[in-house]
This record gives sequence, C-alpha cells and structure tokens, in this order.
Amino acid sequence: MIIGSDLRRYYGLGAVQVRALDGVSLKIQKGEFVGVMGPSGSGKSTLLHLLGLLDRPTSGSLHIDGVDVGALDERARTVFRLRRLGYVFQDYALVPELTAQENVYLPSMARGMTSQECTLVCNDILGVVGLGDRIHHLPSQMSGGEQQRVAIARALVNRPALLLADEPCANLDTRNSKVILDLFKKLNRDLHQTIVMVSHEEWHTRYFDRIISMKDGVIETEIQVKQDADPGVDPSG
Ligand code: ADP
Ligand code: MG
Repeated sequence: MIIGSDLRRYYGLGAVQVRALDGVSLKIQKGEFVGVMGPSGSGKSTLLHLLGLLDRPTSGSLHIDGVDVGALDERARTVFRLRRLGYVFQDYALVPELTAQENVYLPSMARGMTSQECTLVCNDILGVVGLGDRIHHLPSQMSGGEQQRVAIARALVNRPALLLADEPCANLDTRNSKVILDLFKKLNRDLHQTIVMVSHEEWHTRYFDRIISMKDGVIETEIQVKQDADPGVDPSG
C-alpha cells in the first residue's frame, strides 16, 4: 500500500514560488488501477515524480509498502526505485542504440541474477507485452506503440510493487493507446499489478478503478469507478 500525507512540492523561493503540489494526501491499495487526471499544470507529473522517487517533496511524507521512503538516503532510494518501482514516460525514453532486449536488460541487472537468467526474464516479459518477435529490434525499427511496450516491459522486468505511467499514450493514436490500456488492464487483473497512470483522455477513465482529479496542486475529487462494463469498448464512442 502507498500512503502519501500532505505532500507538497514548491518550486523556487520568494515572490515567484510555484506550488506545484499543495497538500496532497492519498492512499493506494495493492492491486488498484488508479487514474490521475486534471488539466495541464495541475501537478499530475509532480505527484508521479514523488511517488516514483524521482523527486523529493518540499514537505509531507510517503510510505510505500511500509517503508518511509523519505527517510532513505539517495543510494537506498535508487535501489528501492530499481527493485520496487517501474516508471513509464510519455516519450518512452529508450536507449536508441540498444535493442528491445538490451533496453529491458539494464534494470534486470539490479536483481543480482546471472546474465542467462536476465535474458530469460527479459524475453519472458517482452512476450507478456506482445513483443516476443521483436526482441532484437532497435527502437528506430519499431512503431511508437511497440516502443512504448518495450518501455513497459522495462518498467515491469523487476516485478515492481508499483507501476507508474505518466501519459503513456500521449504520443500514440487511439488504436495503439487501446493496446497499451488493454495491456495495463490485463496486468492489473491477472497479476494484480498496482498501477497509477496519468491521463487527460476521457475515454481512458473506463479502465480505472478509481479516478483522482487534480486541480491547482490539490486533489479536487476522487471517484470510485464501477467495474462492470467491459473496458474494450470502441474508444471513439
Ligand atoms: P501536469 O503534469 O499536471 O501538467 P506538472 O506537475 O508538470 O503539471 O506541473 C505543475 C506546476 O508546477 C506547473 O505550474 C508547472 O509549471 C510547475 N513546475 C513543474 N516543474 C517545475 C520546475 N522544475 N520548476 C518550476 N516550476 C515547475
Ligand atoms: Mg504532466
């Protein structure tokens, strides 16, 4: 479980201070698929950066699976991030010179496995995201949707407690977005993967268990979504 208490992130000092996050408290249960929505500049990425230990709050506390991550030093945070968190960026952030398999391989080395074990685990997770036949392709030889699935495989390779995705479909067309969302839903349902995903597309909401809407650095509303409908509805409808 993730517990954030009164998280604040202020940028700059004095007259030009920006309150990107201005007192956010939230709880995320294991196995939840949470959508973070809200207009541009409302603090969604700032919140995700804090949850992903890519940034530290100005004040407030954050516990992930019982660990007070604010109390960890930089080295311990890096280890925690590598082993327990997966992060997916809008622009995929793959290393262009490396194949799909090699991109996924990098974080898998943090688990202290042999290179053979790493290769097996990488190929396995690339299969899970539907890229079993693309493992030796370079990013430039793949579509945007395929590149994002490599990035998702990389985020998942260490079986993270928490998968964070910041507008992962922002650069994809509707068809490819749906592939990514269906994949997230499958990971969530079959593997009980906890997912926090930022989105500003209204049709994405049908995939989420809960929607956290942000405005001006605070949570404006939280809505529990009824999970009876099949999310695989035509996104244009
Ligand atoms: P969102 O992801 O919802 O679009 P962000 O979390 O990126 O919003 O940004 C929230 C606010 O914080 C915005 O007003 C943005 O301009 C500001 N902000 C974000 N990063 C920085 C930074 N490094 N320095 C100063 N202001 C920032
Ligand atoms: Mg953002």
